[in-house]
Amino acid sequence: MAALRPLNRLRKVTRMAGGALKTASMDDFDLRMSEKVRPLYEAVKEFIRTEVDPITEEFYRLGENRADRWSWAPGQLELLEGAKAKARSLGLWNFFLPDSETGEGLSNLDYAYIAVELGKNRLASECLNCSAPDTGNMEVLERVGTPEQKERWLEPLLRGEIRSAYAMTEPGIMSSDAKQIQTKAELDGDEWVINGEKFYISGAGDPRCKIMIVMCRTNPDADTYKQQSQILVPMDTPGVEILGAMDVFGNDDAPHGHMHLRFTDVRVPKDNVLWGEGKGFEISQLRLGPGRIHHCMRSIGAAEKAIEMMVDRGLSREGFGKKLINLGKNMEVISRCRIEVEAMRLMVLRAAKAMDTLGNAEARVWVSAVKAMVPEKCCDIIDEAIQMHGAAGISHWFPLADMWHSQRTLRLADGPDEVHHQVVGRAEAKNRQAEVASGAAATTANIATGRVFTGP
Ligand SMILES: Cc1cc2nc3c(=O)[nH]c(=O)nc-3n(C[C@H](O)[C@H](O)[C@H](O)COP(=O)(O)OP(=O)(O)OC[C@H]3O[C@@H](n4cnc5c(N)ncnc54)[C@H](O)[C@@H]3O)c2cc1C
Repeated sequence: MAALRPLNRLRKVTRMAGGALKTASMDDFDLRMSEKVRPLYEAVKEFIRTEVDPITEEFYRLGENRADRWSWAPGQLELLEGAKAKARSLGLWNFFLPDSETGEGLSNLDYAYIAVELGKNRLASECLNCSAPDTGNMEVLERVGTPEQKERWLEPLLRGEIRSAYAMTEPGIMSSDAKQIQTKAELDGDEWVINGEKFYISGAGDPRCKIMIVMCRTNPDADTYKQQSQILVPMDTPGVEILGAMDVFGNDDAPHGHMHLRFTDVRVPKDNVLWGEGKGFEISQLRLGPGRIHHCMRSIGAAEKAIEMMVDRGLSREGFGKKLINLGKNMEVISRCRIEVEAMRLMVLRAAKAMDTLGNAEARVWVSAVKAMVPEKCCDIIDEAIQMHGAAGISHWFPLADMWHSQRTLRLADGPDEVHHQVVGRAEAKNRQAEVASGAAATTANIATGRVFTGP
């Protein structure tokens, strides 16, 4: 029995840990993919190799020099729809929805393995109807939408017939602090009347984007976290105006786009509010947890791709009498990248498992930890791959520049790194205070004065 005491004590402490990054049981380290999902995982990898990789270059080539940047060029959507139809017929579809009746019902942990594969090809997610921001929007609709909202918007999204956007960020305020959102929605009879401005609204430039979820302030007099609501706004509602596209490192990312929008007396039915008035923040928690971790899973796929490219380049070029891989510290560079990818993978899997076992809200510290860690490290890894490619690394001949841009962007989108570090740091401090207050741990100050708590 004596040997069990330290473990019991550890359990007691970690149960009190709330959202901090601690291990509650050894089961938290069981990060294996379930046997049930392995065939699906293998099928996704095979599908990307045989159906998505071969069309990717042509898809983007067809889009070059099109007359209207905010439309798709002839042939592009046909290629994409062909791949989507095949994926659907093979059942490789909508599996991002965890434990849902309408998706494959994958756990976040199982999905993590698949999302890494999706991250290796930028068309893959859409071919399998698993791309942002639709995934987050579909999950919200699926969890809190009314039967009418589901029929009108969720069904066509699940079928991959339309696309959607999520509109929260505003140019006039620090949007990291979502309590400050200014876009107003006021009830006038049976309608919300919306006025405000949003920017960097991804996907709102795509002609297939038919619906937006818009974060609005509906009651400035309510408690701080009850002032906001999320409202469904069809793109073609009078008063919705696309002012232009925001650049991302000089690219407008057309026709997907990251759009600057103005809402002027936009009227939508009262029933377009999601889950009820004042639920905006609760919905954000629901939506942003999975969205953030999906990004990180795909980022690891991108980092894997960068390592592959680095090694291929290092082995295939020679100078100064040696292969590039053997010059300078290149072996160590590759080693460090591999080590970091494996560390990130473990963190992402642990966060996914925490979401499965604790729920999205309780697992938010884990999600913030990976969101703070992964895009920054992936930027560094892709940067090393660019360096090993020389000038070609930043050219259109290789995807590395695009890959770096999207990882750099992720250090801002869905909350900048600092906000996520704040979540983790705060939880750590709170947890430590609780441990010390409960007498379960000594502070450094106690130790220094010799008053060390020895425990039960
Ligand atoms: C390519 C791209 C796509 C995007 N897509 C969407 C979208 O589809 N929908 C949408 O609504 N938004 C989208 N965004 C916007 C993104 O979510 C916001 O930019 C982000 O939340 C930060 O808000 P902000 O730009 O107002 O920065 P601010 O809130 O003004 O923050 C500026 C800086 O202040 C610092 N900072 C902020 N908070 C803290 C803190 N607590 N502690 C320390 N430092 C802090 C950080 O360095 C931060 O970068 C997108 C952004 C990009 C770049």
